[in-house]
Amino acid sequence: MNRLYIDCRDVPGSTCSVAITADNKEELLVAAVEHAVKAHGYTDTPELRAQLQTMFKVAPTVPQRKAA
Ligand SMILES: [Zn+2]
Repeated sequence: MNRLYIDCRDVPGSTCSVAITADNKEELLVAAVEHAVKAHGYTDTPELRAQLQTMFKVAPTVPQRKAA
């Protein structure tokens, strides 16, 4: 499964270097909205969620977690 991530450094003018990763876009959206609201003072709106989703990217070659 490809991991998805969103990187705050992609936000124009952002000085935040946080990147958030998840296995699916639903989880990533929840975490990204939480970060945007708590760390950046955004309001949780459908527009914010739509904008965040445009920034989702597929993580390059992250090693798969293997069962021991
Ligand atoms: Zn941030």
